[in-house]
Amino acid sequence: MTKLDKQIIITMDGTCGSGKSTIAKRLAERLGVIYLDTGAMYRAVTWKALRALADLNNRESLIELARNTEIRLTRGEEGTRVFVDGREVTRVIRTPEVTNAVKFLADIPEVREVLVAQQRMIARLGSVVAEGRDTGSVVFPDADFKFYIDAPLEVRTARRYAEFIEKGMEITRQAVREDLEKRDHADKNRPVGALRLAEGGIVIDTGATDDIEANLQKILDCLN
Ligand code: C5P
Repeated sequence: MTKLDKQIIITMDGTCGSGKSTIAKRLAERLGVIYLDTGAMYRAVTWKALRALADLNNRESLIELARNTEIRLTRGEEGTRVFVDGREVTRVIRTPEVTNAVKFLADIPEVREVLVAQQRMIARLGSVVAEGRDTGSVVFPDADFKFYIDAPLEVRTARRYAEFIEKGMEITRQAVREDLEKRDHADKNRPVGALRLAEGGIVIDTGATDDIEANLQKILDCLN
């Protein structure tokens, strides 16, 4: 499939380090459709909460904050650009501080409701490849194709560890592994929007190869 003659929704959920973001971005590019990075939206509201020094245990104030946040995703040369209330946050939402705090917002059903509504609005603009944790199970249950991208923990640990070392970060393999386990647990056990295989979902295991093109091809084969 190279050209689309009708609106299509493809969802791509999965575990951290499975390669889903890279694959989703490439797939969207290949098909010429919107890449909807839902994780960036959770990061965006979290960044705002941290910046406002909000109490992360005060659910009501976090819900209020999410309801009063304007998130805009635009297409930049190096991928999606993210704006919160008009201010660009593309890079700052990727810091470990934000990554570690996302859970406080992502676990609140009312915060998810706000972001899910925005994600559905974006899909009204055209075809999308939506990437996240609940895009196939909650956001777009009627999607044309739902993928669940995964790889064994050891493989994901090796990938993440190599990325950190390349960036010059000092970290042990064991710490990377434990962090992934912690994130898997948070993702799979949140009260609403938990990571799970959506009904009718197709599992893609990227464990056998780090070759993005080879993994992308597995997905393209399912679309054809
Ligand atoms: O995918 P990414 O790591 O950028 O996601 C950031 C955070 O947002 C993760 O902690 C993930 O659990 C959460 N998230 C979510 N629902 C989504 C996408 C991401 O709760 N649909």
